[in-house]
Amino acid sequence: MLLSARRVAVVTGAARGIGAATALRLAADGMAVAVLDLDEASCKPVVDAIAGAGGQALAVTADVSDRAQVEAAVSRTAEVLGPPTVLVNNAGVLRDNLLFKMTEDDWDTVLGVHLRGAFLMTRAVQTYMTQQTWGRIINVSSTSALGNRGQANYSAAKAGLQGFTKTLAIELGKFGVTANAVGPGFVVTEMTRRTAERLGTTIDALEQHLSQEIPVRRAGRPEDIAHVVSFLAGEDAGYVSGQVIYAAGGPQG
Ligand code: NAP
Repeated sequence: MLLSARRVAVVTGAARGIGAATALRLAADGMAVAVLDLDEASCKPVVDAIAGAGGQALAVTADVSDRAQVEAAVSRTAEVLGPPTVLVNNAGVLRDNLLFKMTEDDWDTVLGVHLRGAFLMTRAVQTYMTQQTWGRIINVSSTSALGNRGQANYSAAKAGLQGFTKTLAIELGKFGVTANAVGPGFVVTEMTRRTAERLGTTIDALEQHLSQEIPVRRAGRPEDIAHVVSFLAGEDAGYVSGQVIYAAGGPQG
């Protein structure tokens, strides 16, 4: 049974961090949201928060780098919520290391989740977008796309996502589908908390240190990124496509 007549969004990696904030924001904007992550139980707090605020959400499980799981998750979203026409490719992992210590597994895992994952998700969802002649694809890139020590795998994936975004904009524009990338700078999440730990410091100390170099003198919050996604996913953003918008508290590039 179809539950929704609203726009339906799929947000990957939505159990926490930037993905969770984005799912909550798109739901507050009036969309029904598929909260997609590796584990259904971890999605529940986000789904409950959306439902508690009067919105509509569904937990869906998939490893975005697995074709069969992606296709099953997208089909389930369409069956329960309706055809998905907003896709936020946000799921991500880090396997940081200097190049000479980086393993093939470190490389394949990061490229697999960020790039192959975005490819598989987008290929599955574009069918619904082109049928509806309306769609919004938002890929979460990073300032690391411009190069970052210890992140050869991650910077390659995030730069790759930008090329992918521009090509999607060119191919899908005639179907009313836009594709854009958001490039966050330093945002306080579990991902950056783990990075701080790996560097032998705390997230608070790292935040304080990095904030001195950021023009607006603060770290980003997941809601800062969700706000940009909300704009790009909106009805009125149909003439913005193929762009990379950095949300990093200052200019990049
Ligand atoms: P996070 O807190 O680590 O959240 C990432 C989420 O993605 C987690 O719930 C994780 O699930 C999920 N995930 C990982 N692999 C997956 C897979 N194969 N399939 C489905 N879900 C998967 O990270 P975040 O900081 O919010 O980052 C979100 C996105 O923003 C990422 O693409 C990241 O690269 C990008 N970004 C972050 C920053 C930053 O400073 N935080 C800056 C620039 C860009 P598990 O918990 O089960 O692993």
